[in-house]
Amino acid sequence: MIHSKGYAAQNAETELAPWEFERRDVGPHDILITIAYCGVCHTDIHLTRNEWFPGIFPMVPGHEIVGIVGQVGEHVTKFSIGDRAAVGVMVDSCRGCDDCRNGQEQFCSVSPVVTYNNLDHYGMPAYGGYANNIVLNEDFAHHISPTLDLAAVAPLLCAGITTYSPLRRWKVGKGHKLAVVGLGGLGHMAVKFGVAFGAEVTVLSTSPHKEEEARKLGAHHFVVTKDEEQMKTAARSFHFIIDTVAADHDINPYMALLKTSGVYINVGMPAEPWQLSSFTLAMGNKVVAGSGAGGLPETQEMLDFCAEHNIVADIELIAIKDIHTAFERMLKGDVLYRFVIDMATL
Ligand code: NAP
Ligand code: ZN
Repeated sequence: MIHSKGYAAQNAETELAPWEFERRDVGPHDILITIAYCGVCHTDIHLTRNEWFPGIFPMVPGHEIVGIVGQVGEHVTKFSIGDRAAVGVMVDSCRGCDDCRNGQEQFCSVSPVVTYNNLDHYGMPAYGGYANNIVLNEDFAHHISPTLDLAAVAPLLCAGITTYSPLRRWKVGKGHKLAVVGLGGLGHMAVKFGVAFGAEVTVLSTSPHKEEEARKLGAHHFVVTKDEEQMKTAARSFHFIIDTVAADHDINPYMALLKTSGVYINVGMPAEPWQLSSFTLAMGNKVVAGSGAGGLPETQEMLDFCAEHNIVADIELIAIKDIHTAFERMLKGDVLYRFVIDMATL
């Protein structure tokens, strides 16, 4: 077994604290990554606090992982010791179901293994990236360009792919007006990708003080959603809206901002279901769409796109002992725009 140390939640009521545990040995097709940085996704808060469903504890969260390959199994072909490597929201799947064969492993219908908070194919709990190392099958790790800042790459593995994938699927680009609801970890990546794909991007935010930063990210317009006048002016303006909000909220006022045949893409995952007015949906032939992370091929495509266009996340690097403060600040929307844990502080 491989000895690991990290930060874990022992149950849904206590703060994360130092914890030592074991991972499986490096099998013939596995690599061990020495983790350098791990991004802090709002999902880490939802899951460690049982906001969605009862979790498996102790829980080591973290699914925006980057580091350096430290060991390789005898049949590994994709990585060598010393390579940069990244891991996102999943570490294994069945590889045989329709979704796996279509490169949508995140929806594997037989035996998906997400990066933490479930059991792996060996019957062991999967522990995430708030730790010094991780062992996984090489197929589920990605290459990172040496030209990108490693810490700022970490959030691409969840916030990045989760916004890149639906914007690509819906072919958002030149001639489109795109609105991004919520300027947090996912939201700021949606702005960067929307701009890179050629769309005219508006941020819809509850936080007026984020306007200057939004424009620095490349957003063309900024609407304060609590301001009724600004919302009225924005009515029927957008071809696409991507909603990245983590808290319960009423989506009907946002739906009113779509043009006829506009598409509302939801990626945020508040715990409570929405109330969606049938009139809001029918009037204007509107579409509501969802999107969950992204598969292995598209995640590598996104990382390569980022290398080509020099795109990374805007981050605040933190020591792991400050994770509780980071969670509390995220809940207040007080982060520009992703916390990333420097694992050297472990
Ligand atoms: P985050 O960094 O905390 O950002 C969420 C943003 O939502 C906040 O910065 C804030 O932006 C806005 N917001 C907060 N409360 C709001 C409210 N009551 N009404 C309207 N807007 C509000 O979170 P994140 O890490 O980006 O994650 C966002 C959500 O996506 C989470 O629920 C997460 O679990 C989910 N997620 C889904 C997937 C997927 O596969 N679909 C993948 C990863 C994460 P403003 O200050 O600009 O309003
Ligand atoms: Zn995430």
